Amino acid sequence: MMSKQEMLSAMDQMDPEVLAVSRELWNHPETSGEEQYSADFLRSVLRKNGFAVTDVPGMPHAFRAEYGTGAPVIGILGEYDALPGLSQDASATRHQPLREGAPGHGCGHNLLGGASLGAALGLKYMLEHGGVSGTVRFYGCPGEETLDGKTHMVAAHAFDGCDAALSWHPMTSNTPYTGAYLANASVRFYFKGKTAHASFSPHLGRSALDAVELMSVGANYLREHVIDKARIHYTTDSGGFTPNIVPDRAESWYYVRAPRISDVYGILDRLKDVARGAALMTGTTVEFKTVSGCCEMLPNRVMEKITRNNMETIPTPVYTEAEERFAAELLKNIPPEQLARERETYGCDADSAPAIFRGVSDYETARRAELPGSSDSGDVSYNMPMSLFTAACAPLGATSHTWIITACAGSGIGEKGMLYAARVLAGTGYDLLTDGASLKAAQEEFRKVSATHPYTPIQAD
Ligand SMILES: [Zn+2]
Ligand SMILES: [Zn+2]
Repeated sequence: MMSKQEMLSAMDQMDPEVLAVSRELWNHPETSGEEQYSADFLRSVLRKNGFAVTDVPGMPHAFRAEYGTGAPVIGILGEYDALPGLSQDASATRHQPLREGAPGHGCGHNLLGGASLGAALGLKYMLEHGGVSGTVRFYGCPGEETLDGKTHMVAAHAFDGCDAALSWHPMTSNTPYTGAYLANASVRFYFKGKTAHASFSPHLGRSALDAVELMSVGANYLREHVIDKARIHYTTDSGGFTPNIVPDRAESWYYVRAPRISDVYGILDRLKDVARGAALMTGTTVEFKTVSGCCEMLPNRVMEKITRNNMETIPTPVYTEAEERFAAELLKNIPPEQLARERETYGCDADSAPAIFRGVSDYETARRAELPGSSDSGDVSYNMPMSLFTAACAPLGATSHTWIITACAGSGIGEKGMLYAARVLAGTGYDLLTDGASLKAAQEEFRKVSATHPYTPIQAD
């Protein structure tokens, strides 16, 4: 049987292709729902490498690419959507868009797709030459930023028959997680009132905008009486036309997030009551529309342990002086208190600490560190054992969804993190393919946890 080290050494030959893929994705940033080029490009690279590619019904930018035969089937999640307005010159240490207003890879999904591809190629090599049977499946996952791509893929049965799933995310530290992210529901509220001249006959009007405002007041009072880690945020993009017409239409758009999907459902019910109350107070009516939603990530300690072991044994990146200087320059754009907080969380707050995270977070740090965003990967974790880790692809203190991440994702720091992540994913996949007992233990834990956490996905209206 091929050793893990032989597989990892073979991956050195694959690095140029992985780097080229990541750069190609970075050079063609496409936002959620628009990932035609990125998905087609990845499909072609996988086909060229001997993978059988199948589409996901109803999702033109989603696909599965498979190599090997039979069980176990190890899934590797790849993402490739970018974010609007985050175009950035990869060599600049100040905000400098390549194209003003254009999208950019400010969440580093070009690296996410690249490393996952690299891992799939590494595992394919092992299955081809290693005397081990099983299947590696690369999942082309669009629409992560809208938090519903994988939710739809689960519903379309794309994950059927998969024994375990591996994922990672470019971030600012090398940290394995067990359980992560907040569950999320994205819901729109449509208020309908009665229009009137705002000065001649205000008494005849029923303002939908008043309802939106009163709902915000209610939501902000609700905030005090929900669990600490819940988040409620909102916006409005419609509230009438001119001040002298009572607005008969107004909308607000809310995200409700919490550590458990069951908490999200509970808070959402109360938020709907707040909306009904606002409608009652203003003599308007309200309708709700659930846009999307996703679950939090279910913990799996067996998967975490296997991932951690790979993170600790595979060499972490070594940075050049120029990369360290580039990182330090980028950090000048970050508020000092944010930087200090991050460094304290990760135990890197000594004056001499380098700008880029080194090593792997210990167990206590990993528990303390949180990922307060949401990801549709959570829905995958409700259907099979899953592991997630982050790899340092930007200086510690930088935050996702900023031009700083776009810069790092298009240059050396991000690429080194990606190549490390590819090896950690492949190493973890290797362990699951070759050690049936570990996979069985992970599945047993999944069965136990999911018995008390049934999958109740948010249903879009
Ligand atoms: Zn992301
Ligand atoms: Zn993101």
